Order: sequence, then structure tokens, then C-alpha cells
Amino acid sequence: MPITVKEFANELNVPLAQVITKLIGLGVMASQNEIIDEDTCILIADEFGKEVNIVQPEEEKSIEEEFGLDFEDKEFQLKPRPPVVTVMGHVDHGKTSLLDEIKKSHVRTSEAGGITQHIGAYTVNIDDKKVTFLDTPGHEAFTSMRLRGAQITDIAILVVAADDGVMPQTLEAISHAKSANVPIIVAINKIDKPSANIDRVKQELLENGLLAEDWGGDTIMVPVSAKTSEGIDELLEMILLEAEMLELKANPNRRAIGTIIEAKLDKGKGPMATVLVQKGTLRFGDNVVSGFSSGRIRAMTDDKNRTIKKAGPSMPAVILGLSDVPNAGDLIYAVEDEKVARTIADKNKESNRENRISLNNRVSLENLFDRIKEGEMKELNLVVKGDVKGSVEALIQSLLKLDNEEVKISVIHSGVGGINESDITLASASNAIVIGFNVRPNINALDLAREEDVDVRTYRVIYDIINDVEAAVKGMLAPTI
Ligand code: GDP
Repeated sequence: MPITVKEFANELNVPLAQVITKLIGLGVMASQNEIIDEDTCILIADEFGKEVNIVQPEEEKSIEEEFGLDFEDKEFQLKPRPPVVTVMGHVDHGKTSLLDEIKKSHVRTSEAGGITQHIGAYTVNIDDKKVTFLDTPGHEAFTSMRLRGAQITDIAILVVAADDGVMPQTLEAISHAKSANVPIIVAINKIDKPSANIDRVKQELLENGLLAEDWGGDTIMVPVSAKTSEGIDELLEMILLEAEMLELKANPNRRAIGTIIEAKLDKGKGPMATVLVQKGTLRFGDNVVSGFSSGRIRAMTDDKNRTIKKAGPSMPAVILGLSDVPNAGDLIYAVEDEKVARTIADKNKESNRENRISLNNRVSLENLFDRIKEGEMKELNLVVKGDVKGSVEALIQSLLKLDNEEVKISVIHSGVGGINESDITLASASNAIVIGFNVRPNINALDLAREEDVDVRTYRVIYDIINDVEAAVKGMLAPTI
């Protein structure tokens, strides 16, 4: 509990002047209204032959707890739900084309009354089962959602062009999916091209930790063409198969919790938001709250622009009726009435709270040892970038040797080239430190690192890196000047 000198003197029942004198004796020049720390309190009390009883403040309840917004469902309440899929991969390998082709060929003609529109997510039917695709491809979108605390993707489709093979962003995508623990299905795209070489892609993926099922591994790889539609049905079947194995479930019979996928201000209609429902069922007329924004759902449409009355788990819906434009990545809750919705929105405003990992919890080489000591950290996550492949590999080998009983060192992503935004987002979402050997962050990465408070360290000598990390793990890192 913070306490001022004056309050402390009162508590001790000692004249203020005497406390101040003792403080000066300890070398602390404090006026009566200054706050003194616990250790100083203990020392001063001891001088007066008294003992202090430090009362820790009660842990503040989160708004979710206070209003009982989220709670565990019972096993028997859980029902199977469709998988939510994100498409990732290197630029120009065909992510957008694949998403478009799936949308075009699998939105039933009977549904085509409504024209599919871009709302950030869409659902397709395959053999009467549904799959929801997030419509903004790329691992940056995927991880920036995670940054805000939302993990909505169940399966990642990694698109690799068969004529181009594994490229830097392919590797980034693999690291992003892996660090989020999201299973990967590979779509080897552009097989219609004469220069396509499926085996070469499999070989390159194997070198990067993904072994194809037909080669004895456990990664499903499906050759496809977004141009001719070849293989797409098989890809969708594989998604369903993977989803079945994941046993994805949610309770549809409760007030809804979802994530804002996209939001904008429509001139005529006001704030419009696409919600991906995660638990429960969102209904027309529900009172909802997301961050600062609250309101009653006064219109609800699906991805085909048809009016709907409700949306269950894993289904996207566009809603109208919110007071402000909410943030993409934030959670949205259905609550009992308008008053509760407004109270929560006001509280969120007051605490200026966002649904994201608190920046205070950031790891840095400086605070690493304290965190290990306090038992908060058992794993040090690193993103390692360097100028040449050989030195990156050598560096990783040496870093992994620093593993000890207290802390396990994991390299969640490594690569050749400058430190980019993708590295920072990944580090931020996984609470990792970024290490650059003979490479530097670009301007955007630097800005983002500052914003997200990610520790980025650049070096010119491998030995210095090893030394620093070793010292940090052992709590002997000299402070940087
Ligand atoms: P993205 O950057 O990953 O979203 O890639 P795009 O979907 O924009 O595709 C990049 C280019 O590759 C475009 O010119 C597409 O027409 C082309 N493309 C995508 N898929 C295929 C395919 O299966 N076969 C062929 N031949 N071209 C494709």
C-alpha cells in the first residue's frame, strides 16, 4: 500500500518531525506528503522499536470478473462448432485468390440471393458442415489480433506457390502459427503452372520443420490451384477432418462472447461491426458492450448480406446499434440489459482499458532474472535475426546451450534479414525478446517496438549476445548506460 510520510507517522503514533529526522538519517530527503516505500517503512519502524504490518491491497477484480461476463461452461453444455480458418503465406503465393475461389465455388447458389460482401469473415458449407474463413489473409493480421488478446483461429492454411517454393514470409507464417499453437495445413498452390514442383516445396518445408503426411510426417499438404479450382474440395475436406480431430466445441446456449473482426463508421447507418461469435448465441435485440462502445443490436446481417435473427459459435455477423466504432480484436459481450452495457463501457473508458496483454508484463533482458526468481518466467522466448544463414544457425545453437533448470530458452522465430514489423508483432504476442546479429530494425519495426515495449537488441559480435543472455538468465546483467 502506498503511504505518505505523514500518514506513516500517524500510523506509528510518532511525531512527524521525528520520522523526518530518522529519514534524513537514512539519507532519505522526504517531505511529509511524499510516498515512502515498504523497505523504508520497515527500517524506520524498527528505529522506533515498532513492527509494521504490510497489508497488500486486494487484487483488483477485472471487469469481466466483476460482471461475471465470462465463465466456464460445463462439458455437457458444449456442442461441436465450425472451425475458424486463417490463410497465410508469402506475398503473391495466392492467398487472396484461394479465399476468393473458395468463396465463389462454395457459396451455394440458393444462398446467392445475397451477394457475398467483404465483412472480414465468411462461411462456406461443405457436406452440410460449415467452415468459417477469416477474410484478411496474412500472419500480420493473425498476430495483431493475438496482440489484442484474441486467439480466434483454429487452423492456419499455409499457401506456398509450387513454382516459387518456401520464401521468407512462408517461414514467418510458420513461426506465427506455431507460436500460437495453431495447426497448419499446407496448400501447395499454382499447380496448374508448368514450372510447378510439388516435391520441391515439400522438401523445403521439411527443411523447415513441416513433414508431409505422405512422407511419413503429420502435416497435411494439399496440392491446389486457385486458378482452375483443382484440389480445393480436397483442401476443404482436410480442413473438416482436422477440425474433427481438434474437437472444437462451444456452448451455444448462453449470452454471447465474440471478437470484433472489423469495424467502421457507415455514413448512413452509424458504427458497423463484424463480430465473430465464440461462445453463446448473439441475437437481434441483445444489449452488447465492447471496450468503450455499447448499445442494443438493432440490425444484424450475415456474410451474404441477409438479415438474420441470431448467430451461434464460429459464425460471423455484422451488427448495427453500437454507440462508437469498437476496436478490431477486442472482445464483445452480450449482457443482461442496457444499463449494464453502459456501466461496463463507462468503466472501460475510465480505466482506459484495452483488451490486450498488459505492457507491464513485458520481458526484457534486464527484468528477466527477477521474473525467473519470482517464478513468473519458465521460458525465455527469442526472435533471432541475422545477416547470414550460417551465423543465425550458429547463434541459435549457442543460445540453446544456455538452457538451465530455471529457464528454458526457445527460439520462436529466426531468419535472415533486417528486423521487421512481423518480428516485433510476433515477439509482442509471445512476450519474446528480439535479437539482431549484424542487422537492425527498420523504422516501422522500431516504432512498433517502442509502442509495444518489446526489447530489441542488436549486436555485432556473437560472443556479446551469448554473454548478455547468459548474464540475464543468471541475474548478472550489468545495467545498460
Ligand atoms: P496473395 O498476395 O498471396 O494474396 O496472392 P494473390 O492471390 O494476389 O495472387 C498473386 C498472383 O498469383 C495473381 O496474379 C494471381 O492471379 C496468381 N495466382 C494465384 N493463384 C494461382 C494459381 O493457382 N495458378 C496460377 N497460375 N496463378 C495464380
